[in-house]
Amino acid sequence: MGSFDDNFEVYFNEKQIELNEVGNFYFTKDLKVGLNTFTVRHKSKTYTYRITRKVEVLKSMMPKDNIKVDGGTKVEISAVSYRDSAVTATINGKSINLSPIDSQTDDIDPNSNYTKFVGTYTVPKGIIEKEQPLGKITIYGSYMGFNESITGGSVTVNALPKPPVEKVEYYDTTNKATGEVVATMTPPANAGKSVRIATISRDFPLIRDANGRTPFLTQLPKGTINYLKSGSNSMTETGMYLESGDYTISNGKRIGKNKLNVLSVSTKSGATILKMKLDEKTPFNVEASPVVLNSSITGPHAINDFMATHVHITFDYVTEVTALPSFKNSPMFKSGYWTDVVVNNTRKFQLVLELRQAGIYSGVGCTYDDEGNLNIKFTRYVNSLSGAVIVIDPGHGKDDSGAVGVLGPGYYEREMNLQIAKRVEKKLKAKGAKVVRLKTENTNYGLHERTSLARENNADLFISIHNNSAGDPDAVGTEAFYFTPFSQPLAKTVCNRVASYWTGKIYTGTKYKDQRDIANRGAKSSRFAVTLQQDFPSILLEVGFVSNEFEHKIIKDPKHQDEFAKLIVKGIEDYFGRSTLPAKPDTATKSATATATTALPPETFSVASRNSEETTE
Ligand SMILES: [Zn+2]
Repeated sequence: MGSFDDNFEVYFNEKQIELNEVGNFYFTKDLKVGLNTFTVRHKSKTYTYRITRKVEVLKSMMPKDNIKVDGGTKVEISAVSYRDSAVTATINGKSINLSPIDSQTDDIDPNSNYTKFVGTYTVPKGIIEKEQPLGKITIYGSYMGFNESITGGSVTVNALPKPPVEKVEYYDTTNKATGEVVATMTPPANAGKSVRIATISRDFPLIRDANGRTPFLTQLPKGTINYLKSGSNSMTETGMYLESGDYTISNGKRIGKNKLNVLSVSTKSGATILKMKLDEKTPFNVEASPVVLNSSITGPHAINDFMATHVHITFDYVTEVTALPSFKNSPMFKSGYWTDVVVNNTRKFQLVLELRQAGIYSGVGCTYDDEGNLNIKFTRYVNSLSGAVIVIDPGHGKDDSGAVGVLGPGYYEREMNLQIAKRVEKKLKAKGAKVVRLKTENTNYGLHERTSLARENNADLFISIHNNSAGDPDAVGTEAFYFTPFSQPLAKTVCNRVASYWTGKIYTGTKYKDQRDIANRGAKSSRFAVTLQQDFPSILLEVGFVSNEFEHKIIKDPKHQDEFAKLIVKGIEDYFGRSTLPAKPDTATKSATATATTALPPETFSVASRNSEETTE
């Protein structure tokens, strides 16, 4: 507003201002947020006015005060901010967008330019027995280039209570089942029809599938009846190939109703034994799951790191199952339940067992006892060397030199294997392990005899110690072979330890210094006779190459042999150390494990013929 001599023209923002009758002027102009520039021109002069309209972007925020919340709580963060502004909050390194809400609140005048913005932040789940401070919440508001922030209260996550220690009682005990029928299936339509039956005639037979040896078919017990596929004398209806000598053929009738009565779950010397009564001794299959095959790793059944969470037992020709007993005393399983699966268009009952710890599983052995009850025995997984039963097989033996090696007589692979094995034996015993070392210095063992002896001694694990040989004189390094998926972790831990000696020490400053990446040849899948058994983990280790002169000289040196032995023991300890289960099964079962002896096998075993497919190389 104002007045001027109207003999002269005045312009506001280049628009001429007119005076009214009383000789003055008056008008209003809205200021936009930010810089406003106005000009007044009078005669030849221009006056510029710059007016900055400021905005208070943020008026307030919540929470203002420090708060403590339980883990997982959704904390509401809000701010009163200028309408149409952008509002975010930060807490604990996270940014949360706040959105305007229309709802009226008492503290905001609906006619004002302010509105409420809200967002939520979910706090972490918390730390056991420790409060977790997340810092303060800061709100950032931004409108037309005006940026403001307000810092409010801090957020602290309450400590999580200490979880109750899982009570697992490892002493020998039996939990009985009720026998109550919990599920049934209609008997097959072809029940009573004639069929040829293959009855398994020895325990722990090796069973193939259509592609040959497989770790995924269980070694069925003696007495198991299988229906032969029409026209075949070795293949069963369910796709198993039985080996001659492992079964007898007879004529019979197909069964109809076949009840499976679960009797009990027992803990014995740390092993879990599932006992059941089948009307008919029909086949089944036990598999750890999941197992992820990986063809990029060498070997026909190579897998990614074994981390199974469950064990599935799938039963053929069973039509009725009963309730499960409590697994609360099982060191291996947390729980179990019945389900059904469809395999090749046939519905089958499946028992699903949940492992207490993923990947902590040592295999299964299945037999019928004197009362005709099926015993499915899950080998214990001990968590230290103390009391562990370890079977060591120095590769080859009395009349089998193994690889000749570049250094010739006196330094054959056999001698190298034995010398290292003896050192491993000594070191394991010093740590409290019960060691059964095969006496290859004066005994010839058959191909499958070595692992049968391991079974007789209740092996917790089996290691066959070898040295490698290759056509390429420069081939170097360590590798370890497994066949059963649950043996893969052992192959890996032992191989990694032994390879580290070559790569970390021996190759330093030699022409092999650039071979470090390939010298750890890794855990590989292969079907050596000594790695086929499914009731305990077994591996075949190749320490180094006796076909390589440099490596052979290291391998024959007692000082280096001692280092290799130390590292093999460390690798076994790494393997047992995978278990974080609360107690050592062995501590409560001392008397029971005493049956695992260090007694040496008799020296009169026959020499089994070699088989081109399975050697102990
Ligand atoms: Zn060998």
